[in-house]
Amino acid sequence: MIIQIQEVKKILRDTDRIVVLTGAGISAESGIPTFRSNNGLWEKFNLEELATPQGFYKNPRKVWQWYNERRKNILSALPNKAHYKLAELESKKNFFYIITQNIDGLHQKAGSKRVIEFHGNIFREKCTKCLYKTYNEKIYEELPPICPKCNNLLRPDVVWFGENIPEDVYVQSYEIVEKAEVLLYIGTSAVVYPAAHFIEQSIYRGKIVIEVNLEKTQYSDLVKFSLIGRASEIIESITNI
Ligand code: NAD
Ligand code: ZN
Repeated sequence: MIIQIQEVKKILRDTDRIVVLTGAGISAESGIPTFRSNNGLWEKFNLEELATPQGFYKNPRKVWQWYNERRKNILSALPNKAHYKLAELESKKNFFYIITQNIDGLHQKAGSKRVIEFHGNIFREKCTKCLYKTYNEKIYEELPPICPKCNNLLRPDVVWFGENIPEDVYVQSYEIVEKAEVLLYIGTSAVVYPAAHFIEQSIYRGKIVIEVNLEKTQYSDLVKFSLIGRASEIIESITNI
């Protein structure tokens, strides 16, 4: 592992075109639960009820209650060293993007500028009927919230299971992955598609792919570097360039 870390450090120092794909694991040390690992959210809650359009239309109030709870948790969280170190690395590079599956906004809070929120943002809402969208970091008291323009239901502007990634977000992400020389993915179980396709796309193109995760993933044996451990510690050691 020490030799691998030295090699990755050199790559991150010498390469100018880097894309980072992050998942819930990078925010775990900020106190935000992940979905799939031990104690993950899906072990306690029912995915069909809370994170699908069908679940939302069946019981919008219940879904909003859950999102309120997640908002509270995220509002009390701060970025951790892994977020900060990535923001620092960005400032040294000309082509550096983060594609995040997280909806918590912690990369931006840590100072990252070029962040693509692949699955949306928990503090943004959109109308289920008209084009109204709004961003506010608040907890709703009256549930479910209603669109001020057309009186229909507001919903969180996040991508639920069974929904597509907005096309502009997908195309932009695909293109920057194509242009990158290095793909670094951090804290993702790499089983949610199409985000995980970017890992396959990069392996297939022969790019340098670096994994940082607490446990192995389906791609661990296919990538050039698989660094197993806590994101904060590993990111600190590989970005110390
Ligand atoms: P996931 O829960 O499926 O997987 C998290 C991965 O992170 C696991 O493989 C786990 O081993 C690893 N991990 C846990 N703690 C870690 C640490 N300290 N350092 C390094 N790795 C660690 O998460 P995912 O792959 O992002 O799943 C996708 C879905 O989860 C996304 O759609 C995302 O929107 C959603 N999600 C987001 C948040 C958030 O915004 N913070 C939280 C939970 C889930
Ligand atoms: Zn509306």
